[in-house]
This record gives sequence, structure tokens and C-alpha cells, in this order.
Amino acid sequence: MVLVSYLNPLSEEGQNIVRGLSSLDDIFNPNDDLMDIVIHTNRQTISNQEYVPVTFADLAINRIKWYIDRKNNKDFNPNNYAYFFNERIAEYDTIAFHILAQAIASQFKAGSREIKLFVSSYGLMVEDRLTKLLETDKKELVEEILNDLLIQDGIEWTFLKELIGSKKLSLTDLVLQNGEIVLDREEFIYSFGDEFSDRSPERIYDILIGDNLKEMILSKLLMQKSEEYIKHIQDMLRTIEPHPAIVRLGEMLGESITELMTKYSSFYATGGAYGHMEIGKLVREAFPPCIANTVEGVSSGGRNDAIVLLLTSFVSYARLYPGIFGADATVKVSDIDSNLNITMNEILPLIYEAADNCTPPLFEDQPQEKINITSKLGFGMHETPDLEHEGETKWYTPMSCEKIKMHLPQLCKENKDCSKINNPLSYYSRMKWIMAKTGKNKDSSN
Ligand code: SF4
Repeated sequence: MVLVSYLNPLSEEGQNIVRGLSSLDDIFNPNDDLMDIVIHTNRQTISNQEYVPVTFADLAINRIKWYIDRKNNKDFNPNNYAYFFNERIAEYDTIAFHILAQAIASQFKAGSREIKLFVSSYGLMVEDRLTKLLETDKKELVEEILNDLLIQDGIEWTFLKELIGSKKLSLTDLVLQNGEIVLDREEFIYSFGDEFSDRSPERIYDILIGDNLKEMILSKLLMQKSEEYIKHIQDMLRTIEPHPAIVRLGEMLGESITELMTKYSSFYATGGAYGHMEIGKLVREAFPPCIANTVEGVSSGGRNDAIVLLLTSFVSYARLYPGIFGADATVKVSDIDSNLNITMNEILPLIYEAADNCTPPLFEDQPQEKINITSKLGFGMHETPDLEHEGETKWYTPMSCEKIKMHLPQLCKENKDCSKINNPLSYYSRMKWIMAKTGKNKDSSN
């Protein structure tokens, strides 16, 4: 019999398992029983120690590593993490889930990349585990967990609007009553039993409310619960200090995530005519004339657009993602600058300095332009960027030379290098490349 906590570590059963852990200090001690399950899992790779967890802390970190690898590695080998799909791992994995949640909640802010990774990795693990379970076990577990969760709350159909929007689910797949989704067999028969005279309501229930729908709702509900759990831990951490072992795990996790994301990130190696366009410190000497003029301050008309539209997008992409025009996916600031340290300490100071150099200084008579700058970085209409608001607006991409010449002609003072490019960002990458080649920019890649 598969444990409920194999899918729902937040269940009553899961919480009892965690209470059985004698001390949090143990999470860094080798655990023979855990290793025994791992190495005796069918098809598990054991030749590479990187994948074999020895401690609870390893198992917790590997949950995230598995997800990043599974999503990004074209040659992903499921046998490296086969133990996650061995039902015997349930007790150990439940502890790993809880210490991981605590480490993430104590180390990273709401809305951070790490919290999103935690929630998404859990959702995908539930989905993958469901596909590997025996049909009878799966049915039983799904029913039991859904009953448990749905006794607590009904679900409005809007809860599934993302799935409906992504076409994984159609509104017509749902049976609704007063806007709430009917999933429970008894409730269905009670509410709609009288409507069917020629067929049994039980049979109709089986046809209408299929397993696929229940599984989708289950993984979505569990992801939501895991997000609430992180929030709950963070509320508690306002009054109590996290355990040192949890702090240590959080730090190790941060390092592992950054290392893996760097490995798979396209932000670091987009290639192109000027070699790798790496993120790196801003090199003012490589700015094109239009940007250099803006940084010195704009006194005539177009001051607001020069700072808010031209400079904000240029500086942020030049610093974080100079290869944007070669990318085929949308990107957010936090995908590269996960805790906004670069944004707050390097990008905004340069933009604010340029705003101050304007005549009159931009924020003196138009302080609301700070909100517009935040908005152009993708963080909504707020005074300063905050991860919680990321995505409320889009990260505005740099203007082309053609647009600058049309809207801000006073800033375009073309020089000989401008003839080879059609965007200030390309100018910047080219100049950095030339400077690095000629030894004028020794600090072009950090
Ligand atoms: S040609 Fe383009 S890069 Fe050069 S100054 Fe004009 S707008 Fe800037």
C-alpha cells in the first residue's frame, strides 16, 4: 500500500512522519536506510555519486536538481533519479520535502525564483509519480487525497483558469454547481441523480468526471497547498529564528540552484557575431553616443522618454541580458538577477543618476516617473522593484536606432561605429568585444 505522503507530504500522515525525526541536526548525517533504498531501486544510476543522496539534506537538494535537470537537460537520464519514483522512499522523501520547504522559506523572499522552483518541482513530481503508479493504487490515493482536501474547501472553477487557458482542460470538461467544481461521487449523485432516468447516475459520474481531471486538479491543489505552507513558515519566522541546520541547507541550496541555472542558462552564451554576450559589469566607455548623452542628462524635450524608455531598457538589458535579440523566449529580470541585487545596486543607481543630471532633475518635478521606471523593468506600477510584483508589467526591450532617430533625434549623434549596427545594444556588445580584444576592457565578463 502506497503512503498518502508519497504524493501529499503535507497530510496528517506526512506531519506525523516529520515529528518522528529526532533532531534537525541529523539531516546532515549519512542515513544507511535511505542509501539502501536508493541503491536497490530498479535501474538507479549508482556509478555517479552526484545523484545518490546520502543524507536527508542531499535528498532535499536533489528534489530541486531533479526538476532543473528534467526541465532543461535535453539528454536527461531518468535513471539518475529513479529513487524518487520508488514508493519505498515516501517516508524519507516526506522529511526531505519539509526541510526543503523550511530552508527555502527561511532563505528566499516571497515571489523568488527559488520559491517558484520549489512549488513547480513539487507539482511535476506529483504528476510524474501519478503516471508511474499502478492504476489501482493511483485511483485509491487520488480519491483519498482529494476527499481530504475537498472536505476542507470547495473549488471554484476559476481555480483552474490557467489550465483552461493553456488548453490542457476545457470548461466543458467540468461539472459545475453554483460556480464550484463537482468532483465528489456522492455529491454528484445527490445533486444530479434525478436528472438521469435511462442510465445510472454512478455510470454517468464515471463518464463525466474522469481520472485525468481529478489528477490535474489534485496536482494543482497540492501545488497551492505547498505555496501556502511556505507562506505559513515565513509568517512563523517573523517571531522565531530558523534552526542552524535549516539555514545551512538554505545556503547550500542557493549555491546548487545558481550553479545549475548557470549551466543551463542561455543568458550566458547566446553567441553571435561578437562572441558570447555574457552578463557583466556595465562598461560606460562602450555606451553608444545616444546612451552616453542620456546619462549626462537631457535638458530639452524628450527628457522623460529618454530616461524611462530608452535608458531603463538599455541599461537593464546591457547589464543582465545583452543577447535578448537572439533569444526566442521571453525573460524576466529575476531569471538572471534572482534576488535583484544587481538591479537595486547597479542598474537603478545609474538610471537615477541620469535622471538627476537632467535639467530640471526628473524626479524633482515628476517623482511618479520612478513608478514608470519600475514598470518598464517588469515589476508593475510601484515605487521600486519587488519580486512579489514581477510580471505585472513586461520588461521593456531596448528601442532600435530607427525609433530613437524618430522619437529622440536630439540624442542620436552617430559616429563611425553606428554604421554597423541598428540598435544601441548591438553597439554596446560590439564595442565591449573590440575593447576586450584590444585589451582595453579587462573586466568584461563578471
Ligand atoms: S545610430 Fe543608434 S546607436 Fe548610434 S547614436 Fe544613433 S541611436 Fe544611438
